[in-house]
Amino acid sequence: MTNRNKLVIGSIGAFALAGIVYLFAINGNESADGQITSGTQLPANLPLQPERAYEFLTTICDIGPRVSGTEGMARQQQFLKGHFEARGGMVTMQPFKVRHPANGSRVDMANMIVEWHPDRQRRILLCAHYDTRPFPDRDPNPRKRRDIFLGANDGASGVALLCELAYHVKDLPGPFGIDFVLFDGEEFVFDDNRDREWYFMGSTWFARQYVGEPPAHRYEQGVLLDMVGDADLTLYQEINSLRRPAAREIVNEIWDVAARLGVKEFIKRRKHEVRDDHLPLNDQARIPTCNIIDFDYPRPGRQQYWHTTADTPDKCSGESLVKVGWVVLEWLKTKSGEN
Ligand SMILES: [Zn+2]
Repeated sequence: MTNRNKLVIGSIGAFALAGIVYLFAINGNESADGQITSGTQLPANLPLQPERAYEFLTTICDIGPRVSGTEGMARQQQFLKGHFEARGGMVTMQPFKVRHPANGSRVDMANMIVEWHPDRQRRILLCAHYDTRPFPDRDPNPRKRRDIFLGANDGASGVALLCELAYHVKDLPGPFGIDFVLFDGEEFVFDDNRDREWYFMGSTWFARQYVGEPPAHRYEQGVLLDMVGDADLTLYQEINSLRRPAAREIVNEIWDVAARLGVKEFIKRRKHEVRDDHLPLNDQARIPTCNIIDFDYPRPGRQQYWHTTADTPDKCSGESLVKVGWVVLEWLKTKSGEN
């Protein structure tokens, strides 16, 4: 992702100031060290487990960088395949290849598709990217911009949430079956000025296959999970999702569910126009898909962790992951019995 590709529209001027004030108002008290001290309380009987979700995030980050075509990505794929199959998911890989933007060599990439109830023809897509950006090229320290980028929030968080949701989606009644899709090549970007075509390669390939060789099943709706692990979680409605009427419907449904559950981190206001994997899904595959993304990481006015060496597990929390997971799971339950 890049600031050209993930444009921040709402973070300027008075609007941002109003946003910050509102954030403080709804998110609880700030302690002396600036940490949020209270947010939405999770119910004691919540089936999703924050500790387990966070452990998935750290397990994935312990692999190290998961850049497309590298050993780290291969190790992650191996871990995820084992995990999802052990939970009863049907895992298939969707391979494709690209040209390395720097040296022109062939790079093998693959999306991972995990099907739950593959017999169901009507399906809902839950997706996340599982590659990490090659370098932390927005680090405030220029000398660190070729260091290790771990991608705890930007990379591991969506994957960790899907790992946790794997314990729950199998029990969902019909008519919908669920597919998890992990996109490769979301940002195979070594030089942001040169590599502008090296974004969203996995989702673009997935969309092209879906249109060019249509499967028997149909995806009726989709949700993209990106940067959902920030310990200081604030989820505004993303503008590119709102712009597309069918995706906007999903945004409204999901934020309504969050309001019903009292998950205050879902804020019913638009902020941030984000270019992400949901664009090929909406515009090429015609699968209405909304993006759930916390693009204030950690919050306006603070040093940002996005695409820096600071995007590490200690900036994330299991509570944030399961808050998003709970809302998504309850939203999926509203689909049960739908005709
Ligand atoms: Zn990114």
